[in-house]
Amino acid sequence: MTALEVDATEAPPRPWWMERAECRGKSELFFPPPGERPAARENRENRARAVCLACDVLSSCQDFARTQRELGFWGGESEIERAEAGFAPTTPVIGLRRHRSTRTA
Ligand code: SF4
Repeated sequence: MTALEVDATEAPPRPWWMERAECRGKSELFFPPPGERPAARENRENRARAVCLACDVLSSCQDFARTQRELGFWGGESEIERAEAGFAPTTPVIGLRRHRSTRTA
């Protein structure tokens, strides 16, 4: 089978735990708007973290996001926190260099 023969309409099944996600309907807290400033990101991620800490499926979600190298805030972790744990997103993490330099200064 070639790439052109793959049935793109067949999406992979959703993980079971997504039906129990506390963040359903709150995507604006978990994914940044274009051009988000650092202070706004920190505020948004703190609010997302509070939602995650009340979520029954945090562990499954965190494992999924790490394995899938997701972007955004998942399982109580930001992209930068996942990268620091050894699970960097497959796309560049904007701000990681700046974040590291402020933590080591
Ligand atoms: S841990 Fe956070 S991101 Fe994951 S499903 Fe729960 S609320 Fe959503």
